[in-house]
Amino acid sequence: MLSKIKNYISENTRILIRLDDIAENMNWNLMKKSELLFEKYAIKPVLGVIPNNKDKDLLSYPKINDFWEQVRNWRNKGWEISMHGYTHVYDKNSENEDYFSYGGGSEFCGHSLETQMSRINNGLKKFSDEKIKIRSFFAPNHTYDKNTFAALKNSGINEIIDGYGLMPYIENGIKFIPQLFYKIIALPFGIQTTQIHLNYWKQKDFDDFEKFIIKNSNKIITYDQALGKINNNYKPINILIKKIIQIKRFIRK
Ligand SMILES: [Zn+2]
Repeated sequence: MLSKIKNYISENTRILIRLDDIAENMNWNLMKKSELLFEKYAIKPVLGVIPNNKDKDLLSYPKINDFWEQVRNWRNKGWEISMHGYTHVYDKNSENEDYFSYGGGSEFCGHSLETQMSRINNGLKKFSDEKIKIRSFFAPNHTYDKNTFAALKNSGINEIIDGYGLMPYIENGIKFIPQLFYKIIALPFGIQTTQIHLNYWKQKDFDDFEKFIIKNSNKIITYDQALGKINNNYKPINILIKKIIQIKRFIRK
């Protein structure tokens, strides 16, 4: 019985690896190590690339000059390049009015449709100047409002790697690939997106990540495979998960 349950669990868990804050300035030492690890285990992660990084914290990391050449190399390996904000500067507080109720600073939520449109279009223009096609987006600090979704759709982007749930779903004409936890966790069921910030990692974090990859490499899927799992039948469970996580977050505050 136990082995049956174990099999069921391992067959039904899938993990999408998402790396955040990919920009000219970043922890290149750990990025190179991660790249070798992904090559070794044939993993194709999603990279959240900031098209025009102006975030002071992020700018304090080492810079490379051939960044966009690097991005094209990753793209050529079949890695998914996603747009992560425009400048990554939080110039509004979402006052808990944001779509997923994360609260906190935002580059998008609370701004007019015009401002959000212009940020998204400027970001997309940078990618197109660099000959990189973009189909998905995720906002810094998970903060969106209705205008963000409208601006994205107006610009032809209808895939967001964020949100609550066990399975990717469609809402308001947008495909959401959920992202639940800061920690690297393999849930017993469903599709989980990791949220990895190499910039904040020490060697120990990388070593743990390496162990996680080795242990779970057969469960790690590509972005296209995640999109292929869109299933709106899980919506009631998604709503339940949203409530549980929000209550947990509220208790912690
Ligand atoms: Zn970020």
